[in-house]
Amino acid sequence: MTKPLAEDMVVAEGGVTKGGDCPSPTISLVDTHAHVNFDVFQEDLQEVRSRWLSAGVTKLVNSCVTPGEFQQINSLCDLFPELYCSVGLHPLYTEFWEGEKSYKEILQAAQSYPKVVAIGETGLDLYKDNNLELQREVFWKHLEVAHALNKPVIIHCRNAARETLEVLKEFWRHQGEITGVMHCWGGDPEETKWFLDLGLYISFSGVVTFKNAKTVQEAAALVPDERLLIETDCPFLAPTPYRGKRNEPAYVLFVAEKLALLRQQSLEEIARVTTANACRLFNLE
Ligand SMILES: [Zn+2]
Ligand SMILES: [Zn+2]
Repeated sequence: MTKPLAEDMVVAEGGVTKGGDCPSPTISLVDTHAHVNFDVFQEDLQEVRSRWLSAGVTKLVNSCVTPGEFQQINSLCDLFPELYCSVGLHPLYTEFWEGEKSYKEILQAAQSYPKVVAIGETGLDLYKDNNLELQREVFWKHLEVAHALNKPVIIHCRNAARETLEVLKEFWRHQGEITGVMHCWGGDPEETKWFLDLGLYISFSGVVTFKNAKTVQEAAALVPDERLLIETDCPFLAPTPYRGKRNEPAYVLFVAEKLALLRQQSLEEIARVTTANACRLFNLE
């Protein structure tokens, strides 16, 4: 006996359907943090794009690591209507920071390109013995740009939850509140609450699918629906079952599926709330 076609149909053109008599409605996902401008995608970006469209990824935010790559990111945004971007300097590249010159460069880029929807990625990365003072200064200047332009900030935070919290609280006190997202979140439940209390969104990546990521999984279960986001951070950190391979935006589906499991919600519900949140935070059309 031949099986009904729908049973084999896991990923369909333009969206995701599940097997069975009655396919579930098409879902829409937003990869809120990708680096599709990186060289590793140069050869096959059109195929990578076909796969993200097939997986139901309808919008993406390409995060900027150095202002030097911004032109290239912008050209990609011109090419792909679903692609938006940020502008900023990653905390691991603060050696490229040139004070006021860099500040103005980021400010101007964010104002002159309509598809810039966030400032960053910025933040603190103390995984190695990095220059905390300089990282703090650069982070602060990014917060100033975000505040001045009323745009959200994309916060990269590795081994630096307490230090990041201090900078944000100080900024809130002196300059005022801004919105933003803790990207590729890897903190425990207590740290997660610190940032939720500041009104920030929490974005989960492929890390949440890893077997040994118990504390992140606990954190993922407690974030309220209205603050939850998903991302790939591709080409890094591919989710299970592609762990160790090149990551790509289509795999954000595995992050959504894992969150559905951890939070005891349907995939459709996760897709609906994370997409609505991304559109609200980044003001996506
Ligand atoms: Zn990052
Ligand atoms: Zn990134």
